[in-house]
Parts: sequence; C-alpha cells; structure tokens
Amino acid sequence: MEMFSIASGSSGNCILVGNDRDHVLVDCGISGKKTEKGLNQYDLTTPDCAGILITHEHIDHIAGLGVLMRRYALKVYATAGTIDAILRDGRIGKVDQSLFSVIHADESFQIGSLGVRPVHICHDAADPVGYIINDDSGKKVGVVTDLGCYDDHIVDELQGLSAVLLEANHDENMLSCGPYPYQLKRRIRSDYGHLSNSLSGQLLGRILNDHMEHVYLGHLSAENNYGPLALETVGQEITDGDNPYKAKDFNITVASRHQVSEKVVV
Ligand SMILES: [Zn+2]
Ligand SMILES: [Zn+2]
Repeated sequence: MEMFSIASGSSGNCILVGNDRDHVLVDCGISGKKTEKGLNQYDLTTPDCAGILITHEHIDHIAGLGVLMRRYALKVYATAGTIDAILRDGRIGKVDQSLFSVIHADESFQIGSLGVRPVHICHDAADPVGYIINDDSGKKVGVVTDLGCYDDHIVDELQGLSAVLLEANHDENMLSCGPYPYQLKRRIRSDYGHLSNSLSGQLLGRILNDHMEHVYLGHLSAENNYGPLALETVGQEITDGDNPYKAKDFNITVASRHQVSEKVVV
C-alpha cells in the first residue's frame, strides 16, 4: 500500500491512499488544481482516484469537493450527518447528489481492492470519522485528524497499522500564550477540538507496533505549533511512555501544510 499527503492543516487537507490498483483521496480541502498537481508528483491524476472519503464537513476538508464532483464525477463516501451538513451549508455549489454514498462508523466497506473502515472520532462536527484502509497484502494504514481526544475504542481500531497520518495540532503552551481569543482556545483544547502534541504522542505510544513503517504528524496549527517542536514533544512522549519503543526507532515526519510529502510504501 502507499500513501502521501498533498496538504495537511487548517488551510486544507488532502491525503492519497492506495495500492498499485486502486486509489482514494481522504478529504479534498484544497482546490481541484492543487489536488491534481499534488497527484501528478507521483504520476497519478485525479481520475485515477476511485473516490473521495470525507472525514467531516469543515471547509478545510471539503473546499475542493464541489469542483472534483463536477469535473470528474468522483464518488464521495461520508456519514449521513456529514453529507447533510455539506449539502445544508451549500458552499460546495451544485453537485450531483447521486455521487454520495452513505457510510457508517465501525462498518467496513470496499472500494475496488481497498477495504475501508471509518472510525468515529470526537470533534465539533456532525458525524466525523477517521479512516483505516487495508488491502489483500494484509497491510493497513490510517488517517486520523481533527479529534479533541481519544478513547480505548480508537486505540483498539488503530492497532496493527503499517503507516499512519495522525494529528499533532498544537503545543499547549503556545496555544495558551498565543493570540487566539479565549473562546477559540477553549474550543481547540476541548474534547471536541484538536489533538495536542502531547496527546498525539501518548496515542502513538499505544498504537506503535513492530510493523509501523512511517508516522506522519499532520494538521499542525500555523499559529500554535511548528514542525521541530511537534516532533520533539511527540518523540518525548513515545520514549518516556509505557511502551517498549523509543521515538528514534520510527520514521516520523511532519506532513506540510502546502507541500506534497514523501510517498510511503508499505
Ligand atoms: Zn481540519
Ligand atoms: Zn475540523
């Protein structure tokens, strides 16, 4: 299986997951043009994608959705709550609604050779999910961002991954001392907000395994985080945590807001 990040952060999220037969996008929060350019870097084009998996309706995850649906008639998979919220909001413009397929958290489905499992996450959206994607190689990868907290259920679902893109949104001190208004700080910090570097490291400590080949830290805040700090805090949590691993045993990189990441093949 392979994956790479085209964009990750509050200015837009778009992740490619696939194998040598089938590909899907997880979210399309950037323009159709940027999505295509990102795919081109690894010799793919938008029509090579069998569909788009949407995590939730926030604009940084769906900004390019309308264009991709109109231009390429790509199928879109999302929970009923997410689809309702997208259509009610209207910002994606007029689309062929028959392209939407309703999916349910904890119910796996198939897109070609890819098995897809949506997992419920805590976030201030209608019915948000993360995605675990596998194929007949026995490998599976995960994309999990926009979660205010995690529970044992998510930890169970994320066992045995070979690669993951996990949110490391903010440094708690930078958020506290930073310029955001109090209400926004409270929202980000809440159980329905975003995962801090520390919590991200603690969650990773519980899902790392001998087969984990790559970890991307994603959805970093532009104002309240920066790459080296996220890597250091997450690494410290892993190394200090109650698990047999040290952070240096793993390839951990930051998925950039605007640049296409390295491709991971597992
Ligand atoms: Zn987001
Ligand atoms: Zn969100």
